[in-house]
Amino acid sequence: MAGCIFCSLQKSEGDIIYKDDWCYVVPDRYPISRGHILVIAVDHYSDMLSTPEDVIGHMFIIAKRYAKINVAVNEATGVNIGTNVGKSAGQAIMHFHIHVIPRYDGQERIFDFGKNKELLPEEMKDMARILKGAAAKSQ
Ligand SMILES: [Zn+2]
Repeated sequence: MAGCIFCSLQKSEGDIIYKDDWCYVVPDRYPISRGHILVIAVDHYSDMLSTPEDVIGHMFIIAKRYAKINVAVNEATGVNIGTNVGKSAGQAIMHFHIHVIPRYDGQERIFDFGKNKELLPEEMKDMARILKGAAAKSQ
């Protein structure tokens, strides 16, 4: 869809951790925690409620894979996996995506999206490289 950041982001190879026909994975630019990533639908659906079930199912499998990788490489002690539907729920970009948010013992459990420190381009690349490398080793 023209003007949609998640439709155009998938064409910029840079920080893409994983991509297939249904979804792609990138670091969140405003991470709530170390290793916060997004699993984003390749096709434009405004939110989970308008996304076909087979696409949702596939994307949650990918979310699980990268949650496990995050626990392994970033030593997270827990993970939140979820999606926001609608502005009132905190959805900032109206293109279906799943948040994978690693959690760490002793850290505050923030759920406020888009208000966190923006990652520097090199920090984005670094996290993409770490998770990509760990995914390659785990297969
Ligand atoms: Zn889109």
